[in-house]
Amino acid sequence: FIRKKDELGVQLNEVQLQAVRQTEGPLLLLASPGSGKTTTVIMRIGYLIEEKRINPARIKAITFSRTAANDMRERFKRFFPDVQPVDFSTIHSLAFKVVRESFRKKRTAYQIIEGDIDKEKDAFNSQQPLLHKKIILRNLFNTIVGENITDDQLDELTTYISYIKNKMLSADQYSQMNMNVPKAVQIFKEYESFKKTGAGKLLLDYDDMLVLANEMLEKDQELLHNYQQSYDYVLTDESQDTSLVQHAIIEKLVKRHQNLCVVADDDQAIYSWRGAEPSYLLNFKQVYPDANILYMEQNYRSSKEIVTVANQFIKRNKQRYDKNMFTENAADTSIQLTSLPDYQFQAKYLVRAIADSENFADVAILYRNNASSIALMNEFDRAGIPFYMKDVDNRFFSHWVVQDILNFMRMAFTDKRFDILEKIHMKFNGYISKKQMEALKRIHNHESVFDNLLQYVPLQPYQVKNLKNCKKTLKQMKDMRPKHAIHVIREQLGYEKALEKMCERLGFRREYLIGILNTLEEIADTLETLEDFANRLKYLATVLKTAKRRKGQNAVTFSTFHSAKGLEFEKVYMIDLIEGMIPSTDETKNEKEEKDMLEEAVRLFYVGMTRAKTYLELISYEARDGKKAVESQFVTAVKQIMSPNKMAIENKEVTNGKKVVRYGKKASNIQFNPNAVQDRTKLMVGNLIKHRVFGHGEIVKCDGDTIEIRFQAKMKILSITTCIE
Ligand code: ATP
Ligand code: MG
Repeated sequence: FIRKKDELGVQLNEVQLQAVRQTEGPLLLLASPGSGKTTTVIMRIGYLIEEKRINPARIKAITFSRTAANDMRERFKRFFPDVQPVDFSTIHSLAFKVVRESFRKKRTAYQIIEGDIDKEKDAFNSQQPLLHKKIILRNLFNTIVGENITDDQLDELTTYISYIKNKMLSADQYSQMNMNVPKAVQIFKEYESFKKTGAGKLLLDYDDMLVLANEMLEKDQELLHNYQQSYDYVLTDESQDTSLVQHAIIEKLVKRHQNLCVVADDDQAIYSWRGAEPSYLLNFKQVYPDANILYMEQNYRSSKEIVTVANQFIKRNKQRYDKNMFTENAADTSIQLTSLPDYQFQAKYLVRAIADSENFADVAILYRNNASSIALMNEFDRAGIPFYMKDVDNRFFSHWVVQDILNFMRMAFTDKRFDILEKIHMKFNGYISKKQMEALKRIHNHESVFDNLLQYVPLQPYQVKNLKNCKKTLKQMKDMRPKHAIHVIREQLGYEKALEKMCERLGFRREYLIGILNTLEEIADTLETLEDFANRLKYLATVLKTAKRRKGQNAVTFSTFHSAKGLEFEKVYMIDLIEGMIPSTDETKNEKEEKDMLEEAVRLFYVGMTRAKTYLELISYEARDGKKAVESQFVTAVKQIMSPNKMAIENKEVTNGKKVVRYGKKASNIQFNPNAVQDRTKLMVGNLIKHRVFGHGEIVKCDGDTIEIRFQAKMKILSITTCIE
């Protein structure tokens, strides 16, 4: 089995082998990025099937997202083309199965109220009453707060609710959370009761499924028994992002046999905001007293510079298991830091950098916010470079700011349509009030709305002046190049000022809205006519949809840092690396929350860096949207780590002996501890030893190149012996 796998270029190391072979009982594999966690899980499954003759149907592999599950299935097929694949799925789909079965038994009517945003949009447009989580929350907010909810508030509210359920928080706990959303607690409570009684059947969102599945397995012994009998082996990847309620489900599932393999890296925990519970791993031994814990620190993915810098970088964080990632891969110089004069050059710069790539599928562009993808998409499409997008932000093209701009342009062709004016009447320097609009509505003469306003509707003196100008400007706009037209809408017609007022009044995020306008200008850049512009937007919206399907083809990947987790690419470009973007800012958080958020941002940045195999480029810029931009403190940190001075210090640290165990004996610039045991045959089970970093311990196992030592704090598997005195 093992030799066969060698042919595929992966020769498992000792720890990996141990993790593969130790199939019975609980096992926690805590390991650095690129150290082969996912590979080990896949090999272990193959081993169970091929060597132990386990029926694939008895094995359950759980990952964190549907994409991750697909990725695993594909990798599995590559390694084991002839083996019937096992059930790779998300914990949500497992929970859904449990819930569905239980409800069928009890004949309970229910409906899932979360899912495809596209469908949700259609429902919004067609004004059908649709039972969807976001619509329900919107309505509740409206009734309880008496205002319209902003997109940001809606995002925060859904995250809040998800957090409460995943963390299994009590009313006391969630009532005390800091929120940007007014009356969040009350909205949450009413949301819960609406789902129970508001629709004649039970309504469930995705998190409800987790909570319910956990409860059902708890209460219904028969159901529990059935599930416990269904699988003999359970494996979970990316477990640092597993939430408490999810852990609880898994605990129940494996209770009978405890054949559970959990794979995780606490440094890559990036979903705490949604209720993930990486600290659960710290208590793994308490839940599973028989558990074996293995550590892996050798990175097989990235070249040496990337590994060394990323390893130093993650040490900024205080709340972590101290690990030291190292690699034996080539030491090429592979990190480049780039600072552009302005944001507007970024997409073009990337096109130039990537255009000559041999294989586009080797390249990924990673960003913090999905909104970044629109400008990229526009440039790459223009340059004819194919791209694949993991999570598509289809909010852009239907965003009201985009619609507003199009409506202004429509007005350039005809200013006779009341319905168009109605959509923008408060958003330019005419500021036509609701009352004035009502008066205008009563006039049916098919003349210019401006003429009608001026002639029949009582106006303020400034309105008279502005409306006259507006009429003239719109007429001229008809023949303008679209980029110029957008500029005129923003400045002369006063759209931007109106937006700013709305931001103040309604709490919209200014940068985001202005960013949309700038992106529209970029899209308009080389276009000739307003029709061209409208068509281009329509076209890009369809490009966006097809970009989703280009996976596996010769296409550049555009992805958020979050969705890139677990993946790897030859070349990675991390973009928009400015303060406010990463780390992002949130003034409402208290000091402790801010610290936690900063650590999470560090982990997110770390996840990004460790996706790269041979080339990593970090891109920032000095200005954006007419404002000065400040390079992300993370880029500054990387710069410091890379600078020769700093490297000298690091080397000194290494020669101090502190890092010897981690860098391994093959690293050339390391002096070994002269007192270290040189002959490993002298190490035997039961020996008491002293380790330079971990202190006193007892050897519990010797196995080839590795020894397992029980230290006071934890068990450690060490692959070299030079550190032991
Ligand atoms: P992440 O934390 O990013 O999810 P991971 O720990 O799951 O990373 P893998 O994706 O399994 O790491 O492996 C990273 C790369 O290293 C892959 O290309 C894999 O083929 C390779 N690899 C893993 N183990 C070995 C090995 N023993 N020998 C050679 N290559 C290996
Ligand atoms: Mg992985």
